Amino acid sequence: MWKNVGYYNGEIGALEEMKVPMGDRALYFGDGIYEATCAANRIPFAIEDHLDRMYNSLRLMEIPFQMDRSQVRAELQKVLDAAEDAPIHFLYWQISRGVAPRNHVFPEAEVKPTLMAYVRPHTMKPLEKPYKLISMEDIRFRLCNIKTLNLIPSVLANQRAAEAGCDEAVLHRGSRVTECAHSNISILKDGVLRTAPTDELILPGITRKHLLALAKEHDIPTLEEPFSMVELMNADEIIVTSSSALCMQVESIDHIPVGGKDQTRLKILQNAYLEKFQRETAG
Ligand code: PLP
Repeated sequence: MWKNVGYYNGEIGALEEMKVPMGDRALYFGDGIYEATCAANRIPFAIEDHLDRMYNSLRLMEIPFQMDRSQVRAELQKVLDAAEDAPIHFLYWQISRGVAPRNHVFPEAEVKPTLMAYVRPHTMKPLEKPYKLISMEDIRFRLCNIKTLNLIPSVLANQRAAEAGCDEAVLHRGSRVTECAHSNISILKDGVLRTAPTDELILPGITRKHLLALAKEHDIPTLEEPFSMVELMNADEIIVTSSSALCMQVESIDHIPVGGKDQTRLKILQNAYLEKFQRETAG
């Protein structure tokens, strides 16, 4: 058992001591995809949704990964089971196109994709502490629907947010809000939950999908249509969603106070999400 567990192609050990081969294409090109979720009682939350998206990302990237769902699930469970007890674990895994001499074109067919994973203890952000955001132009490429390892614009955006004392960066293309650097964003306005549609400009977040479903269950109408920065600033509530933080309220953007005008619906959604997480990861 280790506090932080690392995994690479079947090998398991202390995360701090694991090494990867220099030829892994993830290192040179970010040529791979990833997934992440939280686990409680060593049960990874919404694992089937994450596996669906993982296989979709692999298909879009043309990565010939051969393991089936039950094998992947079993390998990930081994990593979780090797972790010391913690109330919540964070489970991350990625698949790269494999280990081969550096060359932009795909390697020979016999090169097998690599599976890498880690598990660490995780602390969820308290739901009652709202996020502060900064806004930035979305300079990412047009493959945002694929969960690729190419994350440089998001890294830079989150660094700018941290420097400004904020939690996340909300991105916009012109006036159109897309998503945040590592989360989706939705608004409540006049009782309707609105979020951008799942096109190539955003990652189809699992938490976003669940939030829409929970809103419908609680008679909150939903709308999957883009909204502008002006609409964002004037929203009744702003909700940022991700697997690592669930649904966070937003209290400011660029240090200007926002939201706070529909606490009833916000709390219904936040509590429903937390209950779903707890129910589906109960030991
Ligand atoms: N959007 C981006 C760009 C992300 O990187 C993430 C999570 O990593 C999300 C949205 C949220 O997705 P999920 O709810 O599946 O964690």
